[in-house]
Amino acid sequence: MSRITLFLLSICVIAVVVLPGTIALFVRPRATPGATVSLWVDLWDAKAQTVRRMLLQDYLVGVVAAEMPASFGLEALKAQAVAARTYTLRKMSQNQENLTSADAHRGAVICSDPAHCQAWNSREELLRKWRVAGYLGNIRMIIAAVEETDGLVMTYNGNLIDAVYHSCCGGMTEDAAEVWGRRIPYLVAVSCGCQRKALELGEMKTWESGELLAALGLGGMSLPAIASGVQVVARTATARASMVSIYGVTVAAADLRRALSLKSTRLAVVSDTRNVTFTTTGYGHGVGMCQWGAEVLAQAGWTFDAILKHYYFGVEIQKVDPSSS
Ligand SMILES: [Zn+2]
Repeated sequence: MSRITLFLLSICVIAVVVLPGTIALFVRPRATPGATVSLWVDLWDAKAQTVRRMLLQDYLVGVVAAEMPASFGLEALKAQAVAARTYTLRKMSQNQENLTSADAHRGAVICSDPAHCQAWNSREELLRKWRVAGYLGNIRMIIAAVEETDGLVMTYNGNLIDAVYHSCCGGMTEDAAEVWGRRIPYLVAVSCGCQRKALELGEMKTWESGELLAALGLGGMSLPAIASGVQVVARTATARASMVSIYGVTVAAADLRRALSLKSTRLAVVSDTRNVTFTTTGYGHGVGMCQWGAEVLAQAGWTFDAILKHYYFGVEIQKVDPSSS
C-alpha cells in the first residue's frame, strides 16, 4: 500500500469514525439557567468501580438512556426523566448525612447498579450501544426529555416521592404493600395497557425438583413431600402470585422471584415429581410507573404529567426549590 493511499485511508477513518464519535461525546444538555442545572451528583459507577462526579443534568441523561429505549415517545422519555430526577433528589436528601466509603456506593450518593439504585450509561457506553449513526439522534431526544422537564419533580404532601418504576407490569401495576410490606399512598395498583409487551417478555423456566429445592435452600425433602407439588396458594388483588407452596413449604413469591431470577411474580406453575415449570409474563416488581405502559400512553397522545399522575396516585408535579436541595 502506498503512502498516499495510507494517508487517504487514515483521513477517511478520522472523518467517518473518530470525528463523529468525538463530536457525539460533547453533545450535552445546554447550561441554561434552571432549577437543578448547577447541582452535582457523585455516582458510584459499579461497572468501572469508581466514583464519578457530574452535573445532575448529565447524570439524568445517562439514566434515561440506560433505563428506557430511546425509541420511546418523547412524553414517555420525559416521564422517565421526572421519575429519575425525583428518585435521585430524594436519595441525595436522605443519604447526604450518613455516607461512608464502606457502603454500597463507596461514599457516593447513588450507584449505577439497577438492582440497587438506577441504571446509568456513560457516553462511551452509549456510543458502543447505539453506534455513531444512532447516537446523535437518540441522545438529542433524551437531552430534550431532561431539558424540557428541567427541575420538575413529583411530591406528595410536599415531600419528594419514592419514584420507583419497572419495565412491564402485565396489565395492572402492584400495590407497594404487596411487594415491600408497607403501604405507600401514591404507590397503589392502577390499570395499564402493556399486556401485549408483557406476553412478548414472557418466559418459561423449568427446574428439576432437586435443583429447585437446592436453589431455594430446601434440600433433603422426602418423596411424599415432593409428590405434593408446587403451586400458587395466594394471589394479590392484581392476580400476581403472593405465596407459593414448594412441596408443602410456603414461600413468599417475591423471595421466590429473587432466588430463581424470575422476571415477574405474574406467574403460573406446573409441576410433577420430577420437574417444575414457571411461566411468567411482564418484567419487574410492578410498583410505580410501568415503562412499557407509559409508552402505550405516550403513543395515545398523553403528556408526561398525565402519564406520571396515572402511575403515581395523587402526586403533584412541581419545580424543585434549589435552595432546599
Ligand atoms: Zn404495565
